[in-house]
Amino acid sequence: MKRLVESFLLALFPRRCAYCGRVIPSDEFSCRECRKTLPRVEKSICMKCGREKEECSCRKSEKYYESIVAPFYFEGNVRNGLHIFKFRNGKQNYEAYCDEMAKTVRKRYDGIKFDYVISVPMMDESRKKRGFDQCALLAKKLAELIGVEYYPHALKKLFKTETQHDLIYILRKGNLAGAFDASEPEKISGKTFLLCDDIATSGETLDECAKMLWLYGAKATHCVTVAVTKKKKKQ
Ligand SMILES: [Zn+2]
Ligand SMILES: [Zn+2]
Repeated sequence: MKRLVESFLLALFPRRCAYCGRVIPSDEFSCRECRKTLPRVEKSICMKCGREKEECSCRKSEKYYESIVAPFYFEGNVRNGLHIFKFRNGKQNYEAYCDEMAKTVRKRYDGIKFDYVISVPMMDESRKKRGFDQCALLAKKLAELIGVEYYPHALKKLFKTETQHDLIYILRKGNLAGAFDASEPEKISGKTFLLCDDIATSGETLDECAKMLWLYGAKATHCVTVAVTKKKKKQ
């Protein structure tokens, strides 16, 4: 009976490629075409921005977080997939991204013992509008895959801010100042966090979250995102 219900649901809602939306076999996350062209971050990276050395433009500036890692660049089919995930009802894509993030965490953060996986928080209002909190969804599944405790709502967002992506660099930092706080400050001290977000641009959002954790005595904050943006090409 269960099998019957499953195949009925699958016929109604077939598994789709998490990067282009094409229908694919139910035991896969992506189609063959996308697998060939995924913009992977593969070579050795700058740990402060998560990009390969030739793409790094962060000049290793001081941050409250230790490092960023990501399986992909925010380009091509990954950009497309994340757009579907966030804005076009593509909630089911999260499993594919978590599978990739888990592999990246195992590879790049080998030897680090995390106490908690947490996520960049979202305002209740924005969550209601989208119907789900995409970062919490990613963090929860990722925690399960890497066998670390998921700590929901570790951070909270205190007021609405402009989308970081839309702002020029100089405005990004001010836009976020004081926007986050810890829900239970007493749980932060001495702990090592894996902080999860969907996309890292300049790392300012992650840094503002890491700053709050640092203020409450966190031992270290390492970040993981689905994708990092590439350096802007000079025109
Ligand atoms: Zn595809
Ligand atoms: Zn860098």
